[in-house]
Order: sequence, then C-alpha cells, then structure tokens
Amino acid sequence: MSLREQLCEYGRRAVDLGLVIGTSGNLSVRQGDRVAVTPSGAALDRLTPEMCPIVDIEGRLVEGDLQPSSETPMHLAVYAATDAQAIVHTHSVFGTVVATTMTELPPVHYNALLLGGVVRVAEYATYGTPELAANVRAAMEGKRAALMANHGGVTVGATLEEAFEATRLLEWLCEVYVRALGVGKPAILTEKQLAAVVERSLDPPSFPRL
Ligand SMILES: [Zn+2]
Repeated sequence: MSLREQLCEYGRRAVDLGLVIGTSGNLSVRQGDRVAVTPSGAALDRLTPEMCPIVDIEGRLVEGDLQPSSETPMHLAVYAATDAQAIVHTHSVFGTVVATTMTELPPVHYNALLLGGVVRVAEYATYGTPELAANVRAAMEGKRAALMANHGGVTVGATLEEAFEATRLLEWLCEVYVRALGVGKPAILTEKQLAAVVERSLDPPSFPRL
C-alpha cells in the first residue's frame, strides 16, 4: 500500500471506530524525508490517495493540490524529535475528557507500558501553532503517546498501523480510567509493579523498558 493509500485506509477505520468525527483528526506517515499527511478540512472517511498532500520534512508541499492538515507543524515537530514513522491525532471522546480535566493519565493497567507508562498532557496552545507543536514534542519525550490539553490525543509508531493501534489503546486506557473514577478511587500501578511487568515480558520483549 502506498503512503497515501494507507492514510485513506486508516482514516476510514478511525471514523468507523468512532475515534474521529468528520474532519476532527489527522494522520501522517513518513518515508525518508517525505511525509504524506491528510488534507486540511477533509472528512477522513472520504479520502482518496490523490487528495493527500506530500510535504518534505520542512513542511514544503511536494505533491498534491490540497492544503496539508493545519496540524502538520505538530507532526513535523514530533518526527524531528523521535524515530516515529507515523502519527495519528484524534479528538476521541475519552482521550479528550482526560486531556480536559487532568495533567496526566496515570497507569491503572499494565498495558499503559505499551505507550511508555504515564501519558503526559501537553500544555494548551491554539491548534496549528508552533507553540502547540513544541508542547506536544515535549510531552512525547520517551513516550509513544501524549494528550493535548482541551484538545485530544496523539500517538506515534514505526508504521501507521502501529500508531493507529496506539491511538486505540490510548482511548481504551482513558475510558477505563474515566469509568473507574465514576465507580471509586482507581488504584495506580506502582513503579515496582510496572517494572515486574517489563521483566516478565522480556522474552519476547513486548513492553519497552522505561
Ligand atoms: Zn486536533
């Protein structure tokens, strides 16, 4: 599948799973110094490959007629600071609830380790600005996911499938935490408990070392 075809496929899946409503999210996938990104203002379940712009790592349009997503500066900032090859950003419901009420998502389930443990909430800044890009880059350090205050979530991966699965996991973790808060006081896993999970999973290494 070409980079642009991948954007169409995962854009559709994001809408189908309710992670994205209409145009409220964006995806990108990188190959070398080129980044295919979803276009600004387009419904993610109605993309065609030729609608998706390709930019270079400085954000200059290389191919395509439509404008790249307004969050392209955030995607490029994350690519510049990490080894990510794909990024998914959504305004998914539970992720946005946590991002609106908390400064971090604590690890209440060991699968949080797949995202790097605690998920930080990046400080609020207006969408599409260099300030927001810098805040997300800082929150993403050493992690595979970040939340964006009063906005949504963002995840990275070595492939678009990986970044997409990280977004699904982030949303699941946020939903579990929010629902648990409604029932009682959720227990937060300790450093020791998390370290024991990492030790147990070294062969095969399914969780990254913190
Ligand atoms: Zn957004």
